[in-house]
Amino acid sequence: DPVILWLRQDLRLHDQPALVAAAHEAAVIPVYILDDDAPGDWAIGGAQRWWLHHALDAFGKALKDKGSRLILRRGDAVKELHKLCEDTGASQIHAIRHYEPWWRKAEKALGDRLCLHDGNHLAPIEEVTTGSGGLFKVYSSFWKALATRMPPEDPLPAPRSIPAPSKWPKSDSLADWKLLPTKPDWSGGFDSWTPGEAAAREAAKDFADRVNAYDIDRNMPSIDGSSRLSPHLHMGEISPRDAWHLAGGGKAALTFHKELAWRDFTSGVILDRPDYADANGRPKFDQLKWRRSPEDLKAWQQGRTGYPIVDAGMRQLWTSGWMHNRVRMITASFLIKHLLIDWREGERWFWDCLVDADFGNNAVNWQWVAGTGVDSNMWGRIMAPLVQSEKFDAAGYIREWVPELAKLPDAAIHDPETAGCRPAAYPKPIIGHREARQRALEAGRAAR
Ligand code: FAD
Repeated sequence: DPVILWLRQDLRLHDQPALVAAAHEAAVIPVYILDDDAPGDWAIGGAQRWWLHHALDAFGKALKDKGSRLILRRGDAVKELHKLCEDTGASQIHAIRHYEPWWRKAEKALGDRLCLHDGNHLAPIEEVTTGSGGLFKVYSSFWKALATRMPPEDPLPAPRSIPAPSKWPKSDSLADWKLLPTKPDWSGGFDSWTPGEAAAREAAKDFADRVNAYDIDRNMPSIDGSSRLSPHLHMGEISPRDAWHLAGGGKAALTFHKELAWRDFTSGVILDRPDYADANGRPKFDQLKWRRSPEDLKAWQQGRTGYPIVDAGMRQLWTSGWMHNRVRMITASFLIKHLLIDWREGERWFWDCLVDADFGNNAVNWQWVAGTGVDSNMWGRIMAPLVQSEKFDAAGYIREWVPELAKLPDAAIHDPETAGCRPAAYPKPIIGHREARQRALEAGRAAR
């Protein structure tokens, strides 16, 4: 009898332990199921649907080259898998383990039929624990524990061919899923991305040439200093072990390896706290009086706050489906502290706009910036956007994403209002920095 290979965020042939195990056993039926109900509010967002379409297309072709196919189904993943087992005579399902709460529920519901493999992390999440056996709440201690097990094992090679069943089950057509936007088609600015495993490996190799400068350059929004592997890693088009090794070993890659480890850390947090995307890590923040201002939220989403670095970031996000990490921190802090708008509003916007939208990474980072989380950050840590903009030399970045300001000199572009040269087409600052800071600190005190 054939076996099912259940694919989720692991669309790759290299370092795919579930595929290797399945192919070792019998003929393999690879299947991807689009389940928009199980995740509830966390169904895949708009930008990522664009990515998913191209990723599935690329992966289907890669499987074909190996003598296999990708079967597409839509609906309740557990039901579809049971149905597939009945229709094909398969009794085993192989899959890589994932930590999103809806996937854990589905994995449980599949029972003995399901054979789970580790492969989406540098080390199995349950095995990296504190002295008393719990999961870590603070990244720095997590890293210390993980580092004792690093480097990760060598990645598995891609199989030369994949045994095919004598009869294939029916598959949906990808086009029928309508994952791509039509009216309006907002994806024009996504053309800098190439989804799929081949492009992911290319990007990792290309990054290896820049890894020496990563430690400093990754913080500079005007420089292409980071790997831009996040959407590939989210969709599992490259494994973290492969990303680790392809970036090169030694000291030069240490900072990069530590960033990769953040993915593992956030999976531990959501394993421990499956409600983390919806609830404050520390309950005292349930008392916080957030402002409800649809206009201010919209100004933030559309990049019209009058703070150039914030507006540049929000426009980069909308246009390209991605935002530089330093600017993610600045824009998130601005929404939460300067506008005093609930971090969950920002988290949702990012979820819909990011091609790398990831349940654990998004929630943990939003709560980290807010200071509402289980980790050590504090509410009173308020980023000063204008200072950050200058410090990290964002002039070029602002010119690229806020064309109204493109003609301003470096000295004026971070804060055109104070410099007295704000063009009429560009909005006034939505709120003063001092005033906003004061208001945020007071709200934090009142919540105690
Ligand atoms: P690199 O600097 O090259 O890092 C390599 C990889 O390490 C990344 O691809 C990513 O997988 C991982 N990584 C790096 N930093 C972090 C981090 N802080 N937390 C978790 N993983 C990290 N990242 C997501 O993948 N999905 C999200 O939904 C997401 N939402 C975020 C929301 C906010 C408010 C903030 C501040 C950060 C968020 N991040 C998220 C983390 C980070 O900004 C991105 O992973 C990074 O910018 C991706 O670019 P890169 O691949 O070039 O990163």
